Amino acid sequence: MIPAGEQIGLLGGGQLGTFFTIAAKRLGYQVMVWDPDPRAPAHAWADTSLKSDFQNPAALQTFLNKNAVITFEWENIPVDLVTKIEAKRPVYPGSDILSLLQNRIQEKTFLSSHGFPVTPYRAVLKPEDLKKQVKQMNLPLICKTATAGYDGQGQWRLTNTSEVGSLMNTLEPRKTGWVIEQVAPFIKELSILAARNASGEVVTYPVTENSHERGILRLCRIPAEIATALSEKISTLAVDVLSALQGVGLFCIELFLLENDELLINEIAPRPHNSGHYTLDVASPSQYEQQVRAICGLPLQKPVILSPAVMVNVLGSEISALRKNPLRQKLLSMTGVSLYDYRKEEIKDRRKMGHVTLIGSDPNALLARAEEVREILEKTQNQINRC
Ligand code: ATP
Ligand code: MG
Repeated sequence: MIPAGEQIGLLGGGQLGTFFTIAAKRLGYQVMVWDPDPRAPAHAWADTSLKSDFQNPAALQTFLNKNAVITFEWENIPVDLVTKIEAKRPVYPGSDILSLLQNRIQEKTFLSSHGFPVTPYRAVLKPEDLKKQVKQMNLPLICKTATAGYDGQGQWRLTNTSEVGSLMNTLEPRKTGWVIEQVAPFIKELSILAARNASGEVVTYPVTENSHERGILRLCRIPAEIATALSEKISTLAVDVLSALQGVGLFCIELFLLENDELLINEIAPRPHNSGHYTLDVASPSQYEQQVRAICGLPLQKPVILSPAVMVNVLGSEISALRKNPLRQKLLSMTGVSLYDYRKEEIKDRRKMGHVTLIGSDPNALLARAEEVREILEKTQNQINRC
């Protein structure tokens, strides 16, 4: 067990890192955040922060000397850095899991070889192989970079064979290749958070229902509107996946729900997840505190959920609604609504800038109010576009 007062090293300094840092400090730990981007939001919340690039040997030495245990909040941390750290200090989850989940080909191979359901796929190692691999599958397909994709980036839809040639020209040769996968005819997108400790105990959260807009997560409702038996099936699936991975930490499994309650695993995040922000408002413990507990060898807690919730992501220039009157006043005056501003200075189109959580006892009323929030956010965008 890592005693209170010790320091935790966190690789990556985005909003997930901010909330992790706050949770760790509440439990009495110090936190060192290492992110080469000096504007990464978690730096401002850390006890100490490192802003050197991940290849800097002096920074690595400091990181090793000062931290009792290490974790990450972003899965694109260089694996070789994590391997070097792991030789000297515990890192949870470990470099083996990080490396596996960084690569969609390896991730899907792992899952299918353990009997877990994944969307039918094929690996494409060179752009020239695209045509051959597409022929083995049925359109429509999605082509995704095997590594370094996020928020729907590095993805292309293929609906027609005539598009294969131009996609082949678009794909720049890369070491790690791509996957092409069947477009899943899903009824719902779901996700589940689960934490596992070093003794192999696993706790799961309720299933969340997620809606995306243009490939990026927009809205989550908790609990998902699905039958209890299906929720239980998903919870068991999460326990089995984490047990197969042997990972220590907090994970999120993204799923597609098809007809007849068939499930496909889309991907696994070895860290807290956007769809788990709601836990800050209505769960004890939050996903971030559960991550601290898992990596520090503290008891995991079966989460207690206090109320249904809906979370809406605030994207790009919509953040102005949270920052400027009169929309800010309007949002702040709504009952059961919490605003989160990640304090990112640079506003980029579709960038996750903050979120809004709505809590209350009636899920349908919550959805209606979330729609109102979304309209307020979109109004900001329109105002900005008109300027
Ligand atoms: P994120 O960072 O949001 O998890 P990502 O870049 O890791 O995104 P995915 O999770 O694979 O990418 O895909 C993003 C979204 O695109 C999915 O949540 C889903 O809405 C859609 N999508 C991805 N793959 C498929 C598929 N095979 N069939 C149907 N929709 C898909
Ligand atoms: Mg995803």
